[in-house]
Amino acid sequence: MNVLVVNCGSSSLKYQLINMNDESVLAKGLVERIGIEGSVLKHEKEGLDKVVIEETLSDHKDAINLVLKTLLDANHGAVKSLDEIDAVGHRVVHGGEKFANSVLINDEVIEAMKECISLAPLHNPPNIIGIEACKELLPDVPMVGVFDTAFHQTMEPVSFIYPLPYEYYEEMKVRRYGFHGTSHKYVSERVAELTGKSLEGTKIVTCHLGNGASLTAIKDGKSFDTSMGMTPLEGLVMGTRCGDIDPAIVIYLMDKKNLTSEEVDELMNKKSGVLGLSGVSSDFRDIEGAAEEGNERAQLALDKFAYTVKKYIGSYAAAMGGLDVLVFTAGLGENSAIARKGVCEGLEFLGVEIDDEKNSVRGKEAEVSKDSSKVKVFVIPTNEEIMIARDTKELATK
Ligand code: ADP
Repeated sequence: MNVLVVNCGSSSLKYQLINMNDESVLAKGLVERIGIEGSVLKHEKEGLDKVVIEETLSDHKDAINLVLKTLLDANHGAVKSLDEIDAVGHRVVHGGEKFANSVLINDEVIEAMKECISLAPLHNPPNIIGIEACKELLPDVPMVGVFDTAFHQTMEPVSFIYPLPYEYYEEMKVRRYGFHGTSHKYVSERVAELTGKSLEGTKIVTCHLGNGASLTAIKDGKSFDTSMGMTPLEGLVMGTRCGDIDPAIVIYLMDKKNLTSEEVDELMNKKSGVLGLSGVSSDFRDIEGAAEEGNERAQLALDKFAYTVKKYIGSYAAAMGGLDVLVFTAGLGENSAIARKGVCEGLEFLGVEIDDEKNSVRGKEAEVSKDSSKVKVFVIPTNEEIMIARDTKELATK
């Protein structure tokens, strides 16, 4: 059985075609600049060099059409006929309170996804456009929606409620939802496989540290609390997002600088975080380089980032009543020894002892704590696509 995994952004589309018999990736790629001049598809077939196809793509339907054409190509394609695509799995960012699990997509589900648009106005519309385009082009192929928020639906009210008037939760669904759920779930399941122990009775903190970053406290295999909130702006210091700040700062800036709500939204989402602090870049590689050359603001950005992650780990250990496993994943978590060391240093009191030599690992699964460490620390590269493909296989063959 072959599953096509599709992840639509506002002007991009990532895809992977996965053979579910052995979970091998037959082909994968990325379409960029959809609807913008200079649209391009970068496609890779297992064992072959990357191919770059430039073609005018006015919308996501054009993009999916090109992806399907490329998958059928005699040279770098992966299938002979579209009949060999047995199901499509779509990443959907926000499932609100409606979706605690992945779901087989029908018209009713698409309507329910549309109702979640106000909670994720930037993310859900392109996800839905991608679903509708696939439905048109592959009308008889079952499709499944996998939500970033679903894993976190196990949180108790004490974790997800905000201390605002309760009616705002009841009427407008203002609450913590959390994101990166598919990634947090994947790495926690890998922990069970790597340790050979059930997650029942295990307290884990998973650190998904990419451009967007979030931490999740996982107790008994379930999301117990997570750092992103109603939107992906809350929580850690990120590439360009500020994360937690005093909410009164928003009002102060709007008053003093005469900012509109859109401007302050842009400021907090696109111009803050380590980019805003360092003034160098949102990419940690650039910031680590600048800090090494003595740039003090770059060093402050790195320190603030690590300090915030550390504080969250401490608070989650307190909330769960202990900590057994710490996991680092995503671009920075998988690749940056500096970031992992910065986070772990000072957590010895909790039983976290990082091993500098083991911690020099990059981009592959490894245990990076000392043998004597009470808390096991792992680097686990995330794989959201395989999670989407597995759920798609299960629901499409039911
Ligand atoms: P997203 O999917 O949220 O865009 P990723 O998980 O791909 O993000 O992570 C991207 C970030 O990971 C980059 O911005 C960069 O800061 C960081 N990163 C990737 N590789 C390295 C590395 N070798 N050293 C330090 N940081 C890295």
